[in-house]
Formats: sequence, structure tokens, C-alpha cells
Amino acid sequence: MYIVHQKLVLINQVKKKIIFLDRDGVINEEVNYLRNIEDFVFIEGIFKSMHYLKELGYEFIIITNQSGIARGLYSEADYKKIDLWMKSVFKKHNLDILDSIHCPHKPEDDCNCRKPKPGMFDFCFQKYSISKENSWMIGDSKRDIEASLAAGINNNILVRSGHPISEGIKNIPIIDSIKEIHEVIN
Ligand SMILES: [Zn+2]
Repeated sequence: MYIVHQKLVLINQVKKKIIFLDRDGVINEEVNYLRNIEDFVFIEGIFKSMHYLKELGYEFIIITNQSGIARGLYSEADYKKIDLWMKSVFKKHNLDILDSIHCPHKPEDDCNCRKPKPGMFDFCFQKYSISKENSWMIGDSKRDIEASLAAGINNNILVRSGHPISEGIKNIPIIDSIKEIHEVIN
């Protein structure tokens, strides 16, 4: 019995607790089709909040729609440049981003990755051992939450720091920004 118990503990330890984050409007101030680092402004309090979550044992994955690529407004290389820069700033704050996944398509492409489809989440579940029950999605739009729910994550939070939230979603808490995350995850 003792050995069985130990194995169960081990499995629980291996499965990651993830905070899935939308990027624009959650991590940085919403800008229509952000293409320059100069326009990337971190949401106030983000580093402190992420340290709080890190202390609770969570790791971070960014999941972001970037249809500006398919629309030709910026390139894959432009996106990567911003992504690398952003991660370097997090690193300076002693925060690691486990992964950042983006969908480069536009709605008409009908891909499986663009939120509200769950493709980017499913990709993460294949790549990492993740506990869905102990993971959360933080987004600023209905489609973020719809994608997360479709992927089987039932812990979701909406923030008002991005796109205006015209309609809430039943049973989904809404906070002003990630700065207030301790009110929901504790
Ligand atoms: Zn896509």
C-alpha cells in the first residue's frame, strides 16, 4: 500500500500546474495589431502577480491569436522578435515562461489553433504533462475562455485590462487586471 501511495504522489508532482495567459490585454496593454517593441507596455503589477503565482507552484504558458501575421500587418519574424524580447524582460524579473504559442492565421483560414478553438491548448497537453484540474486560463475576451473550456480547463478568469468586456460569461469571475489575481487564485 505504501508503494502505491508513493507512486500516486509522484504522478501528482510530475503534472504541471499551468497559468495559461492570453498576451495582448492580459500581459501588455491592448494595442491593435502590436508590431513594435516600443508599443509593448506591460500591464501594471504583472511581475508581482506572476511571482505570487510562481510561489503557488504555477508555471506559465502564453497562448495568443496573432492574425496580424496572416493579414500581412507584421511578419512571423516581427512576432518572434517581440516574443523573445518579452521573455528576456520576464527573465530579468526572475520569471520563466515555459512556452508561448501563437496562431498566425486569420478567421477565414478556419485553422484549429485560433481561439475560440482549443488547438493551442491541445498542443500543450501533448507536449507537457499538465494537470487540467489545477490549471487556469486568464483572458480578456470571450473567445479565450471558450477555447479554454473546449480544451477542458474549467478554471477561467476574465480581466478588464484588455478588450472591453461586453458580456460576461456565466460563472467566470471578472477582475480589473492580473494585479488582482490573488482575489481569485489563493
Ligand atoms: Zn491558427
